[in-house]
Amino acid sequence: MNHFEKYESYIPFDLLVPQNFLIATLALTLVVLVRYLALTACFYAAFYKKNWPWAQRRQIYPVLPDKKMQLFEIKWSIISSGIFGLGGVLLGVLWQSGWARFYLPLNEYGWTYLVISGFLLSLLHDFYFYVTHRLLHIPWLYRRFHSVHHASLQPSPWASFSFHPVESIIEALPLPLILLFLPLHPLVLLVYLTLMTVSAIINHLGFEVLPRGSAVHPVGKWLISGTHHSAHHRYYKYNFGLFLHFLGSPVKDPASRL
Ligand SMILES: [Zn+2]
Ligand SMILES: [Zn+2]
Repeated sequence: MNHFEKYESYIPFDLLVPQNFLIATLALTLVVLVRYLALTACFYAAFYKKNWPWAQRRQIYPVLPDKKMQLFEIKWSIISSGIFGLGGVLLGVLWQSGWARFYLPLNEYGWTYLVISGFLLSLLHDFYFYVTHRLLHIPWLYRRFHSVHHASLQPSPWASFSFHPVESIIEALPLPLILLFLPLHPLVLLVYLTLMTVSAIINHLGFEVLPRGSAVHPVGKWLISGTHHSAHHRYYKYNFGLFLHFLGSPVKDPASRL
């Protein structure tokens, strides 16, 4: 555990040296991209290639997205990975400059806070996402920046990072902003980012992984699921949140097979 309490474990060199900044951006882009590709490939193999009866019963739309659409989603996701990689390094610069409120001893604020801080982070992030997502649906902004993501009327899991670069920048901003005032352990952030990627993949999977009838299920009443997010992609006006329905009620896709 000692390893996770050392600053050098996260930032081994001075990021303000241009050469280091560039190397760190390339390395982090690669990490983000490989994590996106590896995690998505696992879900893709399990749901699109295996044809399990269990998965077939949970397919949301009658026809799955074709290869051309999947390649379109992968292309934009590669660009987004570069922007997220750069965002991560800029967060590192904020930390190095004393602005980001990362702390290193795991029990500095107690073990309870370590867990609660992850939930606080997700709530603040969800609120930011909801507000900016609503704004991105203003027609002028939608046409320029959000239509790339909605080009996937029936998204595949590869759509989880498929954003216009301006939308990717908007998506990369909340974590540095939250870190300006919320004390957080870097390990919590690393776990959170991986869970966020898994959640984004599940929401675009085309299969519902929550219990059947999840739109009315006690869990589905609060959690955004694939059924809800697919309704957002097709009908534009429901389910703007990231994880929770705490703003606005969930609406199930009327065309859903579930
Ligand atoms: Zn989406
Ligand atoms: Zn949208």
